Amino acid sequence: MNLNSFCLGIQPVGKIDPIYLKTIAGSFLGGLGMKSLILPSLAHPEYAFDKRRVQYDAGIIINKLETMKFKGCNTVIALVDADLFIPVFSFVLGEAKMGGKCALISLYRLRKNPARAVKVAIHEFGHLMNLDHCHEKTCVMRFSKNIEQLDLISDIFCKYCLDTIKYMIKKN
Ligand SMILES: [Zn+2]
Ligand SMILES: [Zn+2]
Repeated sequence: MNLNSFCLGIQPVGKIDPIYLKTIAGSFLGGLGMKSLILPSLAHPEYAFDKRRVQYDAGIIINKLETMKFKGCNTVIALVDADLFIPVFSFVLGEAKMGGKCALISLYRLRKNPARAVKVAIHEFGHLMNLDHCHEKTCVMRFSKNIEQLDLISDIFCKYCLDTIKYMIKKN
């Protein structure tokens, strides 16, 4: 498969400002030549709320998304405006399983900045394509644990990561 026949689903979970959906769709098209499909919203994920942490469990939401069918989409990036955690971190900006079908990103800590959401979305997409974290200074696959670190990276893959993505999609 080529990048331009690959289709990314963009899935709002709960109420999401459409500017995020459009900016992410535009960045995948502009940066990778990939088309995307903005999907109808799902309900706010109350089922993943953790009363003790007062946050939402990213793993529970991803597991639920992984059971769903997304017609015409090769992979899905879901967006939620809620604070996410995974057991080993106090919070996460996004989460995806390596080689998984669905990634999840949180807008909660991005301070209403769609450009930051683009970086997190592209980063998590990289994980879906089996990319691990990268040590290149500005590569979008560099790990950021908060928005200060996120602001230091770019929204593009370094040459090595981009070649890997192209290879993974071709194999698909
Ligand atoms: Zn990562
Ligand atoms: Zn890289």
